[in-house]
Amino acid sequence: SMCDLNELVSRTVEKLTHQAEQLHLQIDTRLAPQPVFAEVARDRISQVIINLVGNAMAYTPEGGKIEVVVEEADEQVTIHVRDTGIGIPKEDLPRLFERFYRVDKARDRRSGGTGLGLAIVKHIVEAHQGTVSVKSELGKGSVFSFIIPKRQTGKQ
Ligand code: ATP
Ligand code: MG
Repeated sequence: SMCDLNELVSRTVEKLTHQAEQLHLQIDTRLAPQPVFAEVARDRISQVIINLVGNAMAYTPEGGKIEVVVEEADEQVTIHVRDTGIGIPKEDLPRLFERFYRVDKARDRRSGGTGLGLAIVKHIVEAHQGTVSVKSELGKGSVFSFIIPKRQTGKQ
């Protein structure tokens, strides 16, 4: 159903701010200037943001910064989750969205995940006829971006 992604992003990020503060991470949102209505499954897109921000929190050392950005284009919306964390080696980037793929367990600030978070992200974004991508620089940070059309075409 129709949903304002500015609102969905800010609500989802609000639920994560306490956790970010406990990890001594700053988390900011940069919303689009106008509401961005899109035809999405709210809970599922919220889950995408939770998984991406959850990773940013797990892989960013104390004092780091996380930014969630909503950008509107004509027919599509882009959401970026940027962090100033440990980054990802170039050779791991192509396999990152595979199920159970993890770069190195020792890198994680938590007790450890399963390597499913990004596979779920890709699945949900593609179910919305969208795409997800990552850019990263080792030791500097990462940005995960997904683009979804505002309107779904064809079968749902
Ligand atoms: P889960 O999400 O199932 O709890 P996970 O976080 O290890 O476990 P994914 O979310 O699929 O699994 O991420 C896969 C791997 O990609 C991670 O193990 C980590 O090595 C790397 N990664 C993901 N996001 C980041 C990030 N923002 N910064 C650095 N490395 C990351
Ligand atoms: Mg994860």
